[in-house]
Amino acid sequence: MAESVELPGRLAILPFRNKVLLPGAFIRIRCTSQSSVKLVEQELWQREEKGLIGILPVQDAAETTSMDSMLSQGVGSESGERSLNVQVSTSDAHKVDGKKPSEVIHWHNRGVAARALHLSRGVEKPSGRVTYIVVLEGLCRFNIEELNTRGPYCTAKISPLEMTKSEMEQVEQDPDFVTLSRQFKAIAMELISILEQKQKTGGRIKVLLETLPFHKLADIFVASFEISFEEQLCMLDSVDPKVRLSKATELVDRHLQSIRVAEKITQKVEGQLSKSQKEYLLRQQMRAIKEELGDNDDDDDDLASLERKMQNAGMPSNIWKHAQRELRRLKKMQPQQPGYNSSRVYLDLLADLPWQKASEEQELDLKAAKDHLDCDHYGLVKIKQRIIEYLAVRKLKPDARGPVLCFVGPPGVGKTSLASSIAAALGRKFIRISLGGVKDEADIRGHRRTYIGSMPGRLIDGLKRVGVCNPVMLLDEIDKTGSDVRGDPASALLEVLDPEQNKSFNDHYLNVPFDLSKVIFVATANRMQPIPPPLLDRMEVIELPGYTAEEKLRIAMQHLIPRVLDQHGLSSAFLQIPEDMVKLVIQRYTREAGVRNLERNLAALARAAAVRVAEREQAVSVSKDVHKITSPLLDNRLAEGAEMEMEVIPMGVNNHEISNAFRIASPLVVDEAMLEKILGPPRFDDREAADRVATPGVSVGLVWTAFGGEVQFVEATSVVGNGELHLTGQLGDVIKESAQIALTWVRARVADLKLAAAEETDLLQGKDIHIHFPAGAVPKDGPSAGVTLVTALVSLFSQKNVRADTAMTGEMTLRGLVLPVGGVKDKVLAAHRYGIKRVILPERNLKDLVEVPAAVLSSLEILVAKRMEDVLEHAFDGGCPWRQQQHSKL
Ligand code: ADP
Repeated sequence: MAESVELPGRLAILPFRNKVLLPGAFIRIRCTSQSSVKLVEQELWQREEKGLIGILPVQDAAETTSMDSMLSQGVGSESGERSLNVQVSTSDAHKVDGKKPSEVIHWHNRGVAARALHLSRGVEKPSGRVTYIVVLEGLCRFNIEELNTRGPYCTAKISPLEMTKSEMEQVEQDPDFVTLSRQFKAIAMELISILEQKQKTGGRIKVLLETLPFHKLADIFVASFEISFEEQLCMLDSVDPKVRLSKATELVDRHLQSIRVAEKITQKVEGQLSKSQKEYLLRQQMRAIKEELGDNDDDDDDLASLERKMQNAGMPSNIWKHAQRELRRLKKMQPQQPGYNSSRVYLDLLADLPWQKASEEQELDLKAAKDHLDCDHYGLVKIKQRIIEYLAVRKLKPDARGPVLCFVGPPGVGKTSLASSIAAALGRKFIRISLGGVKDEADIRGHRRTYIGSMPGRLIDGLKRVGVCNPVMLLDEIDKTGSDVRGDPASALLEVLDPEQNKSFNDHYLNVPFDLSKVIFVATANRMQPIPPPLLDRMEVIELPGYTAEEKLRIAMQHLIPRVLDQHGLSSAFLQIPEDMVKLVIQRYTREAGVRNLERNLAALARAAAVRVAEREQAVSVSKDVHKITSPLLDNRLAEGAEMEMEVIPMGVNNHEISNAFRIASPLVVDEAMLEKILGPPRFDDREAADRVATPGVSVGLVWTAFGGEVQFVEATSVVGNGELHLTGQLGDVIKESAQIALTWVRARVADLKLAAAEETDLLQGKDIHIHFPAGAVPKDGPSAGVTLVTALVSLFSQKNVRADTAMTGEMTLRGLVLPVGGVKDKVLAAHRYGIKRVILPERNLKDLVEVPAAVLSSLEILVAKRMEDVLEHAFDGGCPWRQQQHSKL
């Protein structure tokens, strides 16, 4: 680089559009326009020694508006106006790089003198146009005094702008300049060191930094960055070395920052990339090592076995295609990739589902089926008959689309066990799907696979578990499904139970149809009412009302006890439960329609016996030298304090023989004391009703719940108040209204019922009435407590006790008519269980009594009521209070 340049007074000017050449920088220009070609030709090409030309920034008209303000306040401006507006309109020669005439362009009033370092000439074919490529080096700034645009190219009268050597020496003494230089050097060094790390080319620049003066270095540094045209102009205008240095420091600093940010980002990206690349490489290496060692790759092996499993699954062709597509996708995935696992689990399900696998159906032997049902279940004659009919139809027409059987009844009456007997009779597998509490349609149909944690519905899951496509599937507690915002499971069940639709049941998770038509569905429910009518329509309801005490006894003796003993590894040789004791369990420890609690209590007895037998065996085996031993029966007695010596076993006798001999000799026989010891004090007794009805204001009602019929007491009492009615016991709206009606009816008949002396007397004068339904934790509703409420109120006001042996049910109108109610059979059975002797029923419910077992009916007195007065007549000892009055009058 030349130290100082002698500038001529006039220079040929090459306009440089939207760019600036700074001193110390190099550019390569291709000259094609007439004027520039002429300029290069005359000023550079044809001259012997290469001359100088002026490079002057020019700016397009379009960009000037925003620029003008910029230019006029440029850094280091000594003259206010530094841009010249020139109207180029005369000749083509004045076009700047082919700009149309009449277009206004802005010539900057400062430029840089440049020296050509290299020139090359070209001739375009076929036009023969001459072009030049020029490499120029910027030397020093100049100011334009006068621009001449006439002629083949522009020329200008110029004046130099760079400082002389002595001027520069003076500036270098300036402390401000020294500080600025230091700052600039520091930041420049920083930049260089970064560039050095990146490109290893910083060395040359470092040399420049040591040798060149700072004001020149400032230009060189800035020229090497990509900065905006405005900033380039600003730099060009920074004639004062101090201004130039501070501007350059600012720009270098900015450049440094942007390099750092860019570096940070690349580092991050590179970090991530390199981690996964590293993993990939390691995996590849591992695979290669395994191959070398002859080890099979786990994943590949896994997928191969999955494929084999899929091939053996017997999928229909369209599903097989779908599965293959999914498998191909899976094979392309890395095991760590998201979605790999879910895809794998999905394919596993497809492979596990019994598309064709069915349990071979035996030739149905109706006699054997009947024996099987009889053997497993006591009583239930009509129900077993209906099941045999159902099986007979299936035998004659295996693909018959008979209705779905639905067993309705309280818990523990044998619904599930009947369904499993059907499966056993048909030689099919049995699977139970619990629908209790299912409110989400997705529980039946599954979740779509797009959801995280999606699963197939309960039906498909059940089929996967059972492994055959023709099981007997029990839809348990179908009445307990509900609908909410998550859809309606009942509608999905409709599709399942419809023989027309279930051929292609669509589970959302499975996403391919599955044929459910070979499945035999059986449903159970506790109550019929909650089952949606369309669903009920598809089913044939078979009601199981519950058992009488006698039936329970037979069931216990014939079925439950042998089963329970067997389940506990016992036999009658170990434990005997006499009939009397079973009766006691039924009466004192259970009060249910079914036999579930009875079975539970019997199991408790068996458990206790098992412990004793196990202990005894251990005692005999570990201490042969123990000569004193007691029998289980005695042990029971011993628990009560007695001490007895039974038998002396000589040493050396075989233990097995001992225990066998011992077992046979003395089975444990359950007695009343043992019952209390194991099951605790009795939970129920027959005196409960009598005790509770011992005061006026209490009556005995019969209600119907999901557990069958129940006895429900109603208590009424009066306290000082102002005529209000209080109701407690978790009552629904209907039952609350019944209480209002009851109170109104009683108040309206004060005189008739002889509850007060005068007709006008208000029963509620100065009183509040409180009616309570005990078992306050259980919600209650329904109209059938109407007659019970009135009876309780009449008892309260007349201060006469209601008969303890009488229970009642019936809805009452405001005028006192007794209307029929539902669940009569269950209610009558409940009354029987409770030891009630008389039941008051609405007259129109008499027809329902045919369903009640004769044994129960014969032990009860059924009293019919048409009007409320009839109920009262039956409920009180000696008849209704007012009748008594009438009788006495007669
Ligand atoms: P549910 O499904 O109606 O709630 P389960 O079928 O589970 O009742 O029956 C409960 C228990 O009672 C089972 O062990 C069952 O075998 C037994 N059981 C119910 N009814 C009878 C019956 N009539 N004969 C024999 N065992 C019965």
